[in-house]
Amino acid sequence: MLTLIDNGHGRQTRGKRSPDGSVEEWRVNRQLARRLLTLLQQAGEPAALLVPEDDDIPISTRRRRIMQHAARLGAPDVRLISIHCNAAADGSHWSTARGWSVYLHTDAKPADIRLATQLAQAVRQACFSIRRPGPAHPYWTAPLALLRDLPLAACLTENLFMDNRDDCLMLRQPHILDRLAEALANGLIGEAQPRPAL
Ligand SMILES: [Zn+2]
Repeated sequence: MLTLIDNGHGRQTRGKRSPDGSVEEWRVNRQLARRLLTLLQQAGEPAALLVPEDDDIPISTRRRRIMQHAARLGAPDVRLISIHCNAAADGSHWSTARGWSVYLHTDAKPADIRLATQLAQAVRQACFSIRRPGPAHPYWTAPLALLRDLPLAACLTENLFMDNRDDCLMLRQPHILDRLAEALANGLIGEAQPRPAL
């Protein structure tokens, strides 16, 4: 199973940042994506960065890259995790919302739900707070263009709020990014294991 790691935004999207400018989303997304790539590869899991560039790559191009991998390997053998940081406001002031969350497309498939559930479980086990719509729902849904009608398991993660003071402080600490990447890797590796039949 090849894991494609998408890091949201590029260096041209400078507006997505913490109110104090200490965290820029495009940078921290890449730091997390690279850590996750290394951890998966060390565990013998095939993985690749969907956007190795620092530039903004249009969604249409990213979708084309995803579909090329799916055509080469077969869609069931490819999955996508997109890495973002959340913001509750426009970056001009601090907000109270915080925590980690995972989004699926509004028309989520069972494979998407399994992936999101496994990731949320692993992130919670690593003691990060999970932001979710309700106790029975570990994931959010939205009509996300990147994930629309993909034939493979796909989800988008929002890795803490860069406009929350506490989360922002966490995002600035390399060992916290390591712990977050480890949690994502654990979720992905757990998800790749065959589940026992019920
Ligand atoms: Zn983003």
